[in-house]
Amino acid sequence: MTELERKVAEFLSDRAETHAVDFSFENAGGGFRIHAAGLARVADAIRQQRIRVCSGSLPHGAGGQYHQTANRVGLDSERFPRDRNGKAIVLHEAVHALMDLSNVVAATRLSDEAAAYLTQVIYLYYKGRRNFSASTLLQAAYDVAVQSGIIDPPTQIIQRGVRISWHWYAPLRQAIQNHDLYNQIGWLALTGANGVPLVSQHPCTL
Ligand SMILES: [Zn+2]
Repeated sequence: MTELERKVAEFLSDRAETHAVDFSFENAGGGFRIHAAGLARVADAIRQQRIRVCSGSLPHGAGGQYHQTANRVGLDSERFPRDRNGKAIVLHEAVHALMDLSNVVAATRLSDEAAAYLTQVIYLYYKGRRNFSASTLLQAAYDVAVQSGIIDPPTQIIQRGVRISWHWYAPLRQAIQNHDLYNQIGWLALTGANGVPLVSQHPCTL
């Protein structure tokens, strides 16, 4: 395990960092939940080297990526991020890893992305960020967080355990599909999650 992997696993299993994140998306395939226990399972899989964390060059405009078939998280630096924005990107990719690890085959790719952006926003809000207007995707995720009752701006309380219906997070899926990074993704295209093997994966080469 590399130093980067050790630090990512430590972060993902630190409930003080992740406990604010707890929501469910409902859909025809049964939906799924994103919360600290799931992120801790990703940390365990990284420690077992079933999921690897690699650094290297990423597609233009992307802060990170997750390779579903190679079971690898890609980050842009071999140094673990110190700032909340960088850590939020680690969480974003960990959500994709969790979807793969949990074999969530009935969810759509846009739901998978929506869960990752919503997780980023909940974490950033928890860490004190209040303005998301610099990013159309984070702003769309913030709007869903407020409208669904996860974030209550007047009291600044983060509600855990909220279940969000397919209809309620449609604007976030639409904002994602409208973005250059994702506009080739079909509205109902499925995740393609194929699980994570029990055996260790090869070392990183992005
Ligand atoms: Zn993503």
